[in-house]
Amino acid sequence: AKAAGKGTYAIYSPLMLEALEARVKLEADLRRAVEQHQFRVVYQPLVDIGTGSVNGVEALVRWHHPERGLIGPVDFIPLAESTGLIGAIGEYVLREACQQVAGWRSTVPGAENLRVSVNLSAQQLEDPGLLSLVTQVLQETGLPATSLVLEITEGVLVNHHEAALSTLNALRAMGVRLAIDDFGTGYSSLSYLHRLPVDILKIDKSFVDRLSDNGDLSLVDAIVSMATTLGLATVAEGIEHEHQRTALQIQGCDTGQGYHFSPPVSAELVPELVVAALTS
Ligand code: C2E
Ligand code: CA
Ligand code: CA
Ligand code: CA
Repeated sequence: AKAAGKGTYAIYSPLMLEALEARVKLEADLRRAVEQHQFRVVYQPLVDIGTGSVNGVEALVRWHHPERGLIGPVDFIPLAESTGLIGAIGEYVLREACQQVAGWRSTVPGAENLRVSVNLSAQQLEDPGLLSLVTQVLQETGLPATSLVLEITEGVLVNHHEAALSTLNALRAMGVRLAIDDFGTGYSSLSYLHRLPVDILKIDKSFVDRLSDNGDLSLVDAIVSMATTLGLATVAEGIEHEHQRTALQIQGCDTGQGYHFSPPVSAELVPELVVAALTS
């Protein structure tokens, strides 16, 4: 028999049972991971496409599983969301990232105005405690609100609830900047998204991938010029090649992120990346 809806029982085939057991085990592990602080934050530079200077870093979570080793976010964030554990994980990432970046700003040459971008999931956005959490973390760490960027995927922004909208407005009124993550993957119009309180548009990697040597520039060109008209800054994700960087610079894109500049790195390596960009 097939798995039935919530609250009902069903008969499972051996294979389904195995998958179910694996999931139940992973969920228990994830719960333990929260209690035992098994998460780490890595940082990927956001680079000025023209000058190469590091203007910010995106915080990306990693799970160091005691038996299975390093687990990437795509393999546990969905489970964290469906179990509600994303709240605790997200709070850790926000606090850790703000603390790190506030520290670098006061000690690392060239990092005085470093920004930090933190990913928010739908559940966090709908949590009525989000506003006070952000306020508290900024207060604790001394990071100016204007140096914090919260990234929300296009899909989540489109499906937002009214309560989320008032949270977004309040965050923006504090000075926190909001970015539309993975733009272009959700088939929504930019003019619609612009009615939401957002400042930055992150162009999804799939568009950057299409910028091959003699490939089609028109799509990225259209996105960047529309964003510029609407007063949004643009960040291109997943830049892997110099020719993509050049093409994006010509299109007028402000900021880039991708393996071409640097992969995500552990906190210890961030200061030297900032300094190297300063002196090159
Ligand atoms: P994202 O926010 O779109 O983050 C960018 C992802 O692309 C990262 O994967 C990054 O390592 C990868 N990337 C960056 N440059 C390149 C490139 O040049 N080439 C390729 N192939 N990939 C590149 P990562 O770290 O595995 O994160 C995956 C997703 O997991 C993120 O996508 C984000 O949606 C989610 N995520 C990560 N950390 C958090 C978090 O703290 N909270 C929440 N809610 N989601 C998170
Ligand atoms: Ca992101
Ligand atoms: Ca993204
Ligand atoms: Ca993505």
